[in-house]
Amino acid sequence: MTGAPTDVDAVVVGAGFAGLYAHHRLRALGLTISGFEAAADVGGTWWWNRYPGARCDVESMDYCYSFSPELEQEWTWSERYATQPEILRYLNHVADRFDLRRDIRFDTRVTAATWDEASQRWDIATDRGDRVSAQFCIMATGCLSQAKQPEVDGIDTFGGDIFHTGRWPHEGVDFTGRRVGAIGTGSSGIQSIPIIAGQAEHLTVFQRTPNFTMPAKNAPLDPDAVAARKARAREIREAMRSSRAGVIVPMPEHSALAVDDGARQAHYEKAWNTGTLYGMVAAFNDLLVDRDANDTAAEYVRDRIREIVNDPDVAERLSPRNHPFGTKRPCLDTDYYATFNRDDVTLVDVRATPIVAITPTGIRTTADDFELDAIVFATGFDAMTGPLLGPDITGVGGVKLRDKWAAGPRTYLGIATAGFPNFFIVTGPGSPSVLVNMAVAIEHHVDWIAECIAYLRDRGLASIDATLEAEDAWVDHVNQVADLTLFPQANSWYMGANVPGKPRVFMPYIGGFPRYDEVCRGVAADDYRGFELTPATAPEPAPST
Ligand SMILES: Cc1cc2nc3c(=O)[nH]c(=O)nc-3n(C[C@H](O)[C@H](O)[C@H](O)COP(=O)(O)OP(=O)(O)OC[C@H]3O[C@@H](n4cnc5c(N)ncnc54)[C@H](O)[C@@H]3O)c2cc1C
Repeated sequence: MTGAPTDVDAVVVGAGFAGLYAHHRLRALGLTISGFEAAADVGGTWWWNRYPGARCDVESMDYCYSFSPELEQEWTWSERYATQPEILRYLNHVADRFDLRRDIRFDTRVTAATWDEASQRWDIATDRGDRVSAQFCIMATGCLSQAKQPEVDGIDTFGGDIFHTGRWPHEGVDFTGRRVGAIGTGSSGIQSIPIIAGQAEHLTVFQRTPNFTMPAKNAPLDPDAVAARKARAREIREAMRSSRAGVIVPMPEHSALAVDDGARQAHYEKAWNTGTLYGMVAAFNDLLVDRDANDTAAEYVRDRIREIVNDPDVAERLSPRNHPFGTKRPCLDTDYYATFNRDDVTLVDVRATPIVAITPTGIRTTADDFELDAIVFATGFDAMTGPLLGPDITGVGGVKLRDKWAAGPRTYLGIATAGFPNFFIVTGPGSPSVLVNMAVAIEHHVDWIAECIAYLRDRGLASIDATLEAEDAWVDHVNQVADLTLFPQANSWYMGANVPGKPRVFMPYIGGFPRYDEVCRGVAADDYRGFELTPATAPEPAPST
């Protein structure tokens, strides 16, 4: 498509959980929509991440849409933590059921979005030559959608196969009889390593930073429990929305330091055995704010590692010591630590003996050469800002988003950024996003955006733009809250630390979902406090004859 742009009310970029719901919600307002998705179909995260062992780590029955009670009743999850294929089937079902594909152009990447001050509209361009003019641009581009490509010398010389967990081949990979190297021990590495180890002739795990991970205790869901849950679905959803992390977690009343050793250990053991992400993190009320309290949780996990892993030296190398517990995204696993008891699995500490290069036959560290047939990069994502800074986005006065965010992202509520009117980000930096159940965060954002658009249209307003003052105050607040916690002490992807040269800024909002929701509601109820609203320009009067 070339020539004059097509006119629509809104462009939605991305067709994962967020993009799909945005189509549904905006269509209900009567908007015309053009959707673009770089992948060949719907699913987002769950379309791209097809590595062995990929599954959610928020329980399936919580990690799904709540907007349709009928959908909630008719869909039945099979496992406590659903696999990637099952989640993808669910999102396909949602797309079919609500007819959400019809406005989406797949295999199409948005490359530029430019604000046209005269028409008060966005001019959007794609890598397939599309040009669309839209009043609103909704970036449902995901927090973890830009795979971070490995930067290792000699990578192009490798004679075997290279895979990235975030761009896994659809036909799957059989590692039987192959010597495999895995680089990266974040969530994707921790989920895939036990399964790859079960197939490969030999697996060498190259670990830079050990991570805290807890047993998922995954299991098929009991039909009676599912029925009971469905019977109380609405009530549970309400409780989720008013809980700190978008999932129901009992709020602890005690400091980890206020109880004696025996009581503390017993409490951790119970938390460990819940098989949930939040069980351990929320075991006491000060684990994320007090280093001494945090150390007790970290030591509990290290004890478990020493218990599971037979070789004390390997156990020590697997034990995280460089960051407080919970300040990098903790993981849930199935048999991760036990995998290192296998004779055909080797752990290489690349902090002690760094990788020097990839060679035609494998990986060279400062200590050894490892002969490999395949390398798996589980190196994660350019999180939160990567997908927003990929396209060339230009706002008022020709200012580029890339320049505005050169020292780190700046948003108002994580939804808007000053100087980019009618530009909405779903779960952007400065919102709870990756710290909470994202299904809840996504619905919350899309609802807020849809209500905002309805407000503008009802009043004949052309645009809405965050003021710099509101944005500055919000950024300060996000930083102040983060500084009350231990999170900034970790070199995490929350801080941009996994991408060389990326500014170190704690990106998500850690003030909790209810507090955030209260602020967002307050802003809307106060006629979009902190935003500048611009009326549509009156049409030029017709010349009198
Ligand atoms: C392996 C894995 C497991 C996870 N497990 C959980 C979990 O258990 N619980 C949880 O809460 N969260 C989890 N997450 C986070 C997950 O990303 C979110 O829960 C959710 O799927 C995000 O949905 P989204 O629609 O916002 O973004 P995505 O699903 O990332 O979709 C964004 C889409 O936008 C497209 N896109 C981006 N830029 C462009 C462009 N310029 N042009 C066109 N298309 C573009 C991408 O191709 C992508 O398909 C997990 C993430 C990963 C990677």
